[in-house]
Amino acid sequence: MRIVMLGPPGSGKGTRAHIISDIYGIPVITTGDMLRGAVREKTEYGLEAQTYMNRGDLVPDEIVNGIVKERMGKPDVSNGFILDGYPRSVNQADTLDEILKEKDIELTHVLSVVLSDKIIIERLSKRRSCPVCNRIYHITLNPPEKEGRCDKCGARLIQRKDDKENVVRYRLMVYKENTHQLLERYEKLGLVVETDGEIPLDGLRVHLKDILG
Ligand code: AMP
Repeated sequence: MRIVMLGPPGSGKGTRAHIISDIYGIPVITTGDMLRGAVREKTEYGLEAQTYMNRGDLVPDEIVNGIVKERMGKPDVSNGFILDGYPRSVNQADTLDEILKEKDIELTHVLSVVLSDKIIIERLSKRRSCPVCNRIYHITLNPPEKEGRCDKCGARLIQRKDDKENVVRYRLMVYKENTHQLLERYEKLGLVVETDGEIPLDGLRVHLKDILG
């Protein structure tokens, strides 16, 4: 399976991607996590990406395309992959087409997560993230066992700068501006499958198996 996840920030793309990864044994490639890792490590492109990320803008295509090209060259993607957060622009979708063409493969599904802005803002402003292992929590719906600490690795949880409400609203606008073209493109190819962002966590595994076949 070669899947692209599309959906607004906070819609549950990442959660779905990791469940699919678990069911089908294929890697998740999350550009947001890769970029945040580069920011933490202060690499050259991390430092450049940081300014864009903090204000909720898209990081320039050259940087993101470079990261994805490199990642897609690794052997573990040969059995399939889930792209989470990429492509986010027409230029990125063109680059993805080139990468796939070189490998002589095609996408099998574009999974589009649908959720209202109101719920997204509620979710993201209460989201807390582990800066070390990337696990995410919600302060009321899915709190950590020990307040403020990651259940998995014990690191202190943070609120991402771009999860503050004003930045979330801006990210949603950026998402809408860029994504309708991608949806149209993949709809024409008959690849789009919708998934309702409100499906509760305990029903997701069965739901995803159903829609992916
Ligand atoms: P996410 O965790 O997917 O919401 O991504 C967080 C931030 O990382 C976004 O607001 C962008 O600044 C940046 N980012 C992640 N993926 C991409 C991408 N494919 N293209 C450009 N910027 C990206």
